[in-house]
Amino acid sequence: MKKLIIVTLIIMLASCATVKQTSSPAEDRSVPSATNIPAPPAGNLPTPPAGNLPSAESEDDQDNLILATLWFQKSAEMRALFYQCFRNAEIALKENLEMHCAGKPAADSSIPDDSGQAGSKKPAAVVLDIDETLLDNSPYQGWQVLQKKAFNNDDWFRWVELARAKPLPGAVEFTRYADSLGVEVFYVSNRTVGEMGPTISNMAAWGFANADSSHMLLKETVSSKVERRALIEKDYEILLLVGDNLADLSSIYEKRGPDHGFGAVDADRRLFGTRYIVLPNPMYGNWLNDLLRSAPGSTEREKLLNMLEGF
Ligand SMILES: [Mg+2]
Repeated sequence: MKKLIIVTLIIMLASCATVKQTSSPAEDRSVPSATNIPAPPAGNLPTPPAGNLPSAESEDDQDNLILATLWFQKSAEMRALFYQCFRNAEIALKENLEMHCAGKPAADSSIPDDSGQAGSKKPAAVVLDIDETLLDNSPYQGWQVLQKKAFNNDDWFRWVELARAKPLPGAVEFTRYADSLGVEVFYVSNRTVGEMGPTISNMAAWGFANADSSHMLLKETVSSKVERRALIEKDYEILLLVGDNLADLSSIYEKRGPDHGFGAVDADRRLFGTRYIVLPNPMYGNWLNDLLRSAPGSTEREKLLNMLEGF
C-alpha cells in the first residue's frame, strides 16, 4: 500500500511539471503578450490624431515593444543599416544635384511633386523627417515598457522637453554633407509647433545643419505632410526625401488600402534609393496603424494574430 501511494505521488508530480513547462515562455516570445498594443504614434508621429489609432487601454503592458526596441537600440545590424541608408542618400543626392545643375530632370522626375509643377529651375533642397530618421527616441519606447505605460502625449512631451534624444548613426553627417553641397536642408516632422524649442535645442546641440525655425516645418493641425512639402516646393526643388515612414515621402502612401501599400511601393520601386531613402523602424508607424485598423478581430492582439502568416 505504502509503495502504491509513493508511485501515485511521483506520477502526480511529474504530471504537474509537464504542464508547467509546456505553458510558459514560448507564447510570450512568439506573440505580443498583452491584449493591448500601445497606441503608436500616428504616421510615425509622436502626437497621433484622435480616432486614427488604437486607444490606450487600462492594462498597459508594453511587452510587445521589447524586441523591436532592443533591435533598435542594441543590434549592430540596425547601426549598419542607418549608415548604409545615409551613405546611399549621399550618393543619390550628389547624382540628383548634378542632374539638377545640368538642367536635366532629377531622378524619376516623372513622378509629380506635391506642388504639381515640373521643369522649374529652383535651388535644390532635401527634406528629412526627424523622429526615428534623425533622432533616436527609442529610450521613450523603452520607458514605456519599463513603466508599463501606453503612448500618451503628456509623457511624450516630457521626453521631448528633455532634448536628450541622440542622433541616429550617420544622420548629422548627412545633413552637413547636403549643406556643404549647397542643398537647402529642411525638416518636415509631425512633432507639434509647441515642441519647436526643445527640438531645435536638441538638434542644434548635435550639430545638425539648419536646426532653426525657418527650416523646421512642424505640425500645426494636419498630420499629412503634403502641404508643408508644397510650401518648400514653391521656392525649391526637392531632390531627395528621407524618412522612416512612407508618408514622409509622398501622399501616395498615406492611404495604404487592403494590400498594405505593397502595390504603391512596387510601382515606385525605382524611386527607392534614388529619390526616396527609407530608414527602418520596427517600433511603430503607419504600417502598424494600418494593420490594427484593417485586421479582423475584437482585440488588438487578436487583430495582429489574424494578420500573421504561417505555413
Ligand atoms: Mg519618423
